[in-house]
Amino acid sequence: MKKAIGILISLVMIFACVTPAFAADENGSFGAYKHVYIIGIDGAGRFFKDADTPNFDRIFEDGAVDYTARAETITTSAQNWGAILTGVSYLKHGLTNDITGAQERTSETEFPTVFTYARRAFPDAELASFVHWNNINFGIIENDIGVTKGCGGDSEVTDMICDYFNSGNQPTLFFVQLDDVDHAGHESGSKSEEFIKAIEVADGYIGRIYDAIEANGMMEDGLFIVVADHGHTKNGGHGGPSMRETNVTIAAKGKTVVKGGSFDGISRNRDVSAIALYALGLEKPDHMSSRMPANLFRDVKGEARPVMNDFLDSFVSAFAWIATLFTAIAG
Ligand SMILES: [Zn+2]
Repeated sequence: MKKAIGILISLVMIFACVTPAFAADENGSFGAYKHVYIIGIDGAGRFFKDADTPNFDRIFEDGAVDYTARAETITTSAQNWGAILTGVSYLKHGLTNDITGAQERTSETEFPTVFTYARRAFPDAELASFVHWNNINFGIIENDIGVTKGCGGDSEVTDMICDYFNSGNQPTLFFVQLDDVDHAGHESGSKSEEFIKAIEVADGYIGRIYDAIEANGMMEDGLFIVVADHGHTKNGGHGGPSMRETNVTIAAKGKTVVKGGSFDGISRNRDVSAIALYALGLEKPDHMSSRMPANLFRDVKGEARPVMNDFLDSFVSAFAWIATLFTAIAG
């Protein structure tokens, strides 16, 4: 009997030690990722679903995709890339296309990007950002925290990125912005063949970037995200509240992502910052109004939007949503 109790106690102790480690490794998404890749497609809005995108489809076949996440109320690039990277609304970060072109940003700012939080947590980590629209690297992502930066046209920047991964770089946090889709949107509108064709070309770049990451063994502990800043009106242009401008794509693939997940219908593109921090095991700063969506990571139920963190934005967003519904009714 004594022996049996002894064995039982030993078993309990073994389980007590082993189970938490097992749970953290197998199920816990918090800090489960060594690399977060955020691939931004400027102007693509919700329109991945209207294009022939074999790469997007194969990458996110076992991932989570939402085509109706909501952009910032002002559907302009700096407002949205700013929100995506800082986790606060455009009313708080105050970044505009003009400001990001004129003022070099440093970490001495009230609402820094996730790059600054990653740098503070991982002083020696490789961090990188490759963009077509240099306002992001100059005026949004801080210039005093040792982020590797590159800039060039979509095709050129994709080549740079493939070389970067093939040279053995292992970034903890990695950002890309491609811009040709936005150019096509301005020229031809979101209902045009030219615009859809531009998304299909961008899909090729996404595939090349993903394959370079995977070929170098960096998807095993990687979270791969595709996000758009805003869409375009039928005839081209953005900034307003229409469905075509405010609905944006977010997609994620990683070892703890819900297969066939759809986020939760109330996601915003700024939630990418909360997701990135969570995946890297970093506590989200209290001031952020980004949130963890449900139906993204298997072990995460999703948070309520911290509305009071950005009350004015919440108020403005509610009115903007009504405006969006009116534009939808008006066609
Ligand atoms: Zn844009």
